[in-house]
Amino acid sequence: MARLRIVRRRAQQESGLGRCLDRLVYWSAMPKSTESPMMKQYLRFKAEHPDAILFFHLGDFYEAFFEDAEVLARELDIVLTSRNGHPMAGVPVRRGEAYVNQLLRRGYKVAVCRQMEDPKTAKGLVRRDVVRVVTPGTALDDAVLDAGVNNYLAALRPDRARDEYGLAFLDLSTGEFSCTTAEGTPSLRAEIERRDPSEVLVGDDVDLMGLAPLLDGRLVTRVPEATFTARATRAEDLGIGEPGLQAAAAVAAYVEQTQQSTPSHLRPVRSYQVSDHMDLDPFTVSSLELVRPARDGQERGTLLHVLDRTVTGMGRRCLRRLLLAPLTDRQRIEERLDAVEALVGAPLARDELRESVERVHDLERLIGKLGTGRLRPQDLLLLLRSLEAVPGIRQALVQEEPCLRASAMLATMAEKLGTAELEVLRARFAGMIVDQPPAEVRDGGFIRPGYSSDLDELREQARAMRELLARLEGSERERTGIPSLKVGYNRVFGYYLEVTRPHLDKVPPEYVRRQTLANAERFVTEELRGIEGRIAHTEERAKALEIELFEQGVAVLRGAIPELQACAEVLAELDVLLSLADIAHRHRYVRPTFHDRHAIAIRAGRHPVVERIEEFVPNDLDLPEGRDLVILTGPNMAGKSVFLRQTALVCLMAQMGSFVPAESAALPIVDRVFARVGASDMLSSGISTFMMEMLEVAAILERATSCSLIILDEMGRGTSTFDGVSIAWAVAEELARTVRAKTLFATHYQELTRLAEEIPNIANFHVLVRELGKDVVFLHRVEPGTAQGSYGVHVARLAGLPTHVTDAADRILADLLSEAPLTRLARKDPPVEPLPLFGVEDHPALQALRKLDTDKMTPLEALQRLADLKRQASGRQGAATRKE
Ligand code: ADP
Ligand code: MG
Repeated sequence: MARLRIVRRRAQQESGLGRCLDRLVYWSAMPKSTESPMMKQYLRFKAEHPDAILFFHLGDFYEAFFEDAEVLARELDIVLTSRNGHPMAGVPVRRGEAYVNQLLRRGYKVAVCRQMEDPKTAKGLVRRDVVRVVTPGTALDDAVLDAGVNNYLAALRPDRARDEYGLAFLDLSTGEFSCTTAEGTPSLRAEIERRDPSEVLVGDDVDLMGLAPLLDGRLVTRVPEATFTARATRAEDLGIGEPGLQAAAAVAAYVEQTQQSTPSHLRPVRSYQVSDHMDLDPFTVSSLELVRPARDGQERGTLLHVLDRTVTGMGRRCLRRLLLAPLTDRQRIEERLDAVEALVGAPLARDELRESVERVHDLERLIGKLGTGRLRPQDLLLLLRSLEAVPGIRQALVQEEPCLRASAMLATMAEKLGTAELEVLRARFAGMIVDQPPAEVRDGGFIRPGYSSDLDELREQARAMRELLARLEGSERERTGIPSLKVGYNRVFGYYLEVTRPHLDKVPPEYVRRQTLANAERFVTEELRGIEGRIAHTEERAKALEIELFEQGVAVLRGAIPELQACAEVLAELDVLLSLADIAHRHRYVRPTFHDRHAIAIRAGRHPVVERIEEFVPNDLDLPEGRDLVILTGPNMAGKSVFLRQTALVCLMAQMGSFVPAESAALPIVDRVFARVGASDMLSSGISTFMMEMLEVAAILERATSCSLIILDEMGRGTSTFDGVSIAWAVAEELARTVRAKTLFATHYQELTRLAEEIPNIANFHVLVRELGKDVVFLHRVEPGTAQGSYGVHVARLAGLPTHVTDAADRILADLLSEAPLTRLARKDPPVEPLPLFGVEDHPALQALRKLDTDKMTPLEALQRLADLKRQASGRQGAATRKE
């Protein structure tokens, strides 16, 4: 998927910071005095860019020396040679871009150092300069960027004392630029994960020790501390001097330095509050599989995938941003819902709009190319075609469809698309570029006839002269009496007259021989050379004029960048709204309603992803005021996890301004969603899973408010049963009594259902199953009340465990169930007190229990030990115990 993700992975392998330090040490130890003048020049540039691979322009090659050469050899499979005993590797200049891109994708920075004069005419050492530094965070080439994902360069300005973090994010490819100040590390972490920057700038005097885990192995670039404050002073004049703006200043300075110019498409920095968006921490984003599937290769299982019917790259990026940052402002949400509703209700207008939007290209990135001087004829064509689609879109938006007129947002969009500036641009560039333009401006031939009368004139002159040449063939044949005489052209000699051998005696004296072939000779004449010279001259002028017209056009467009960006923004938004409306229509979603009550009522809710894959059983959820926490029980595979997630997804989609998969949904505005899945699902994370889970729970207890939505799936599974039950119990109690956030708590601990008897705002729900003989039928229906039995053995049978094993399990289970019921886990206040399971503290069963290492047992062992313990507890000695 995201190509720059590779950068991430690589940076994680060798931390960006570590690598950077290694390289600094390596280069500072280089001998400098004994080198040739050119190597001294090289080392001087290298010293200025120690953390980048230096591409040193030498004739037709970019050469890399020393350690850089080894990197090239290793990463790009380039042959390693040597120069004066130093390792050296080179890539051809004309393929330089491709190699730079490969290095970028692997997480390297590249400094391109070019010859600034022709070595043939240079006196002494050729003058060189670093013209560009390319880094993962400032990448611009389409070959490196992912069309549907923003590529952010971030800067971080920590104020440790106040626990505040200035953050700025720039997508150089589009110019989107924003900043904020995150309070506290969880908020910082959430912002970083959400934007997923491919490079993070940090001041060179910041101690990274505590920050490293938050940056999660991302590529870190140290920049001078002064760059954070230089512009901030200016910002303060404007009354804005917070850390976020300081970070923005560093971003701007870094871009200027690496590009060696100021791009003209950077948008004004937009300062936002973290609380403007629904707060989704990294765990929630991954548990809900919003943009990334839990397992690689299952991209179709993400919410993004099922909601994405966008037709432009900028629309796709916009949808992704919205998905990761749903709104919290009710008015803005309702505006979007109005727009989606209007579009759902006007299928014809929707189709018409979609068709027009399909003709729009990735305007944002085209403007990025314009702003960084990389616009080619092909890009200009796409940009102009996009502009040409605008009137049709506007027309469809303002048409007499009563439905569409109901939406203020659509009306504003139509207005923004109908500005005079856009109209002028469109008229100015109408029909400028041919349908299949050449790759480069210098190739010429990309301007359509009729656009410039001067150009048409020149082209006409050239054409007339070529015709003259064609006529020359006829007239010369007549004059000389050589019937086979031909006018031809080749690159070396230009135009010539070709005479075959048998007729050579008829060649007139003014013919000058140029070339002898096997059976013909080629000649030129004064006249021919004259015409040729004039053709070449005229064509040169035509080409020069084309280049001039192109550059004039580019200058005009550059002057209109703000208008173009405003237009692109509207079109991207419209693409998203159309996508949401289309999905809503296709999959029978409904408009959610919002209220100020602390209540959730979803009728016949569905999971937007699961319902696409299989037959789905819709479920209701009613959490009125006074019912905050649900303990959801049911056997494995019953549908607990799905129900939890669908509830979170419905709330999240609603706040994106999307319709939701349900028959109706009345919702509050949720400030934060916390979704946590059981520890067993996250085994690869290094620290003890249980520790991890507890850290997560601590974070929830600290950050959740009564306006939050929490889904806890099998919490406490990472530890022994008794620990697990006790902690789950205490957490549920705390959430229900103190936090009062709406909480869904799926558990296989039956004991937890007793919470509802004691705490009024806790309710029990369970997922229904039906037994048919030895089989269970999963009904996937969520109902009030508690479930009976656990059906684990049935699931084992379903999973294909050998029959003799499941039969044995059945017998053991029957055995267990025939015994007197285990003393129920009785709740004491406080609930974490040792639980008086057996009444007597020093009962042998309890001692045996304490010795168990539950983390190392297989389920079957556990079951057998449990049976033994049970016999012990009821006064009988189990077989296994006697052996001890
Ligand atoms: P649990 O968490 O209770 O073990 P899951 O929620 O993971 O069970 O659901 C198990 C499987 O059951 C899902 O993968 C899905 O295929 C199916 N399922 C769950 N809920 C529904 C539903 N409401 N309608 C149809 N199938 C469902
Ligand atoms: Mg589950």
